[in-house]
Amino acid sequence: MKESRERRAVFMSSLLLTAACAAAGISAKEIESTPRRAPASPARSLPAADPAYRSASEKAKADLIRKHGAAEKARIERGVAQVLDSWRAEDGPAREFGTFVTTEFIPRGPGLDALFDRLEFAFERIDGHNLSIARDLRWATDVESGPILPIDERLSGFEPSAHVQDDLFKNRVAFVVLLNFPRTTLQERLGSGPRWSRRDWAEARLAGRFEARVPAEVTQRITTALVEADAYISGYNIYLHHLVDGAGPRLFPAGLRLITHWGLRDELKARYTDPDGLARQRLIARVMERIVLQEIPQAVIDNPLLDWNPATNAVTPSTVKDAEAPPGRTAQPSSEREADVRYRKWLQVAQAERLADPYYQGRQGHLERRFNLDREIPEAEATALLTSILESPAGRDVARIIAARLRRPLEPFDVWYAGFKPRARYSEAELDALTRRRFPTAAAYAEAIPSLLKGLGFTSSQARFLASHIEVDPSRGAGHAMGAERRDDKAHLRTRVGREGMDYKGYNIAVHEMGHNVEQVFSLNRIDHWLLHGVPNTAFTEALAFVFQSRDLRLLGLHDGDPEADSLRALEEFWGTREIAGVGLVDIMAWRFLQDHPQATPAQLRDAVVGAARQVWNRYYADLLGGRDVVLLAIYSHMVDGALYTPDYGLGHLIAFQLDQHFRKQARLGEEFERVSRIGRVTPDLWMRTAVGGPLSVEPLLQAAKQATERLRPPADAPGEASGF
Ligand SMILES: [Zn+2]
Repeated sequence: MKESRERRAVFMSSLLLTAACAAAGISAKEIESTPRRAPASPARSLPAADPAYRSASEKAKADLIRKHGAAEKARIERGVAQVLDSWRAEDGPAREFGTFVTTEFIPRGPGLDALFDRLEFAFERIDGHNLSIARDLRWATDVESGPILPIDERLSGFEPSAHVQDDLFKNRVAFVVLLNFPRTTLQERLGSGPRWSRRDWAEARLAGRFEARVPAEVTQRITTALVEADAYISGYNIYLHHLVDGAGPRLFPAGLRLITHWGLRDELKARYTDPDGLARQRLIARVMERIVLQEIPQAVIDNPLLDWNPATNAVTPSTVKDAEAPPGRTAQPSSEREADVRYRKWLQVAQAERLADPYYQGRQGHLERRFNLDREIPEAEATALLTSILESPAGRDVARIIAARLRRPLEPFDVWYAGFKPRARYSEAELDALTRRRFPTAAAYAEAIPSLLKGLGFTSSQARFLASHIEVDPSRGAGHAMGAERRDDKAHLRTRVGREGMDYKGYNIAVHEMGHNVEQVFSLNRIDHWLLHGVPNTAFTEALAFVFQSRDLRLLGLHDGDPEADSLRALEEFWGTREIAGVGLVDIMAWRFLQDHPQATPAQLRDAVVGAARQVWNRYYADLLGGRDVVLLAIYSHMVDGALYTPDYGLGHLIAFQLDQHFRKQARLGEEFERVSRIGRVTPDLWMRTAVGGPLSVEPLLQAAKQATERLRPPADAPGEASGF
């Protein structure tokens, strides 16, 4: 079926989509609400280092231990230290600090339980109502609801929760939390977490809201750097009709303007079905290399007035006109290279992030924060998972199969091979006709939700419960799921419905989003502690949504056509994961360099990234795909503007595959889906152990790939595996 290609595109784009829409939703909450802090100017020392505050703290601890006894000693010491760590001079002088901690500390018992319950209730109301306000203010821009007014853009940009964190410190709610509940480290959550009670976990998440206190000016610096990097990437277009390779005809159609890297990579992938695709793919790969190496002439970026020969780097005025040039572009030819702008933008993001370092426990740098706080998977474990995909012998077997299918030796760009497509049994037009008939409007889809859920294996009572908590809105964009944050609100499913009804693509996305909504509703409305609602990170919610999405044809009463579909899917997933695993490793190596070299220049960062890309290539890809010192892995734009986002792709593939395999074995999908949705926001490791009985693992994917290679093994006379050039 077409499904598989669709699915992958949707999976990847929805990773981004959810991350984007979650600014007002749940999944990115931790990242969004993780407070960031201001630069430690040497002139302005923090109370934690001030002798007056230190002695007030010692006196308060002694008084409290005298009052509450040795049994509370550990809690007192931890709590007072946590408050001191976040206290600022403007919060009050040392004496006020001392009075605050001695009067607001509560020993274990009914008083502490009551405080915990009250805070859990308060945060549900704060987050829940702020989310509903943001959703309402964005209604006109998100939902197909008549004309958009000029004011709507301002309203949708209004963020009601923008100052909540600051305000909670100002009125000292945050300090009460820090005084009475433990901030934990990832090591504690991983080591002791499996033995913690659910209440212990909820307390850890409560204190985790105030992990660090980063003043607005640093947060602003980080946002500005990310926005600038994003703007740079958004304008990084290549006009493909203007790529020339000497005497031959132009290889790409007029007007084709593609963004780096998505557009270029997807065009390269699409050319596998083009009988004359090879020369075009080679040309695109050469462009990518020039971009990574920063040898690309500045003048040809986003400029249709010039022709460029990526092989020789010659630039000439174009002899054809196929597109309006963006403002400021001229036909003045120049081969002068784009002097490390890519790496300057990236460096600016790292420099801004570094300003927040002093405000985190143990002065963790951005690299540690990304893994320990955002992902909650230690860097060493993530690296080991990605590496074991790359080291698996399945790589060589799959490469052999690809070479046989292509009838040629592989080349480096075949890292993006896109030909593991099951034969389609139904045409897109047939499917469109079917879904348009069944779902002429968003309301028709909403009405069908209970029967769709029963079709997926949910009980009647589950289906009724879920349907009563999900609203369906016609979306202006591709579609998204927006969960609620308070139990008296509803999750929203946004899906695109055309004039003639919902086409197959819209239906496929709607089923995916419905998976998000079901997880959101179970996790919010049927969980024991509100503080634990949700999933460990975005990869888990995407994986659960995919469990739904992959069953979309069956839900229409259709059957997958190709008996090899499962094998092909396993190979596609393995090859895609193998590709992106290398990208993640290069990104991690680059950030390690940035952390170890705070004074690095853009040129030094470029050399480090190029060096890392070559090292990873030579070690894990060269044998299968040929080429030494290939730099293609560093083409990903998210390296520049994502602040170490790319490892999430590889980890996300592994999580999705492992969960998919688990759900394939379930006779009663509905009960199992509810059970795992109610685990909530523990660590990824504990979540996976509770869900499938074992840790996050590459084994399910490697096993499936191995079985698939045995099934689809090419004949012995197939072409060799690498061209070696
Ligand atoms: Zn999604």
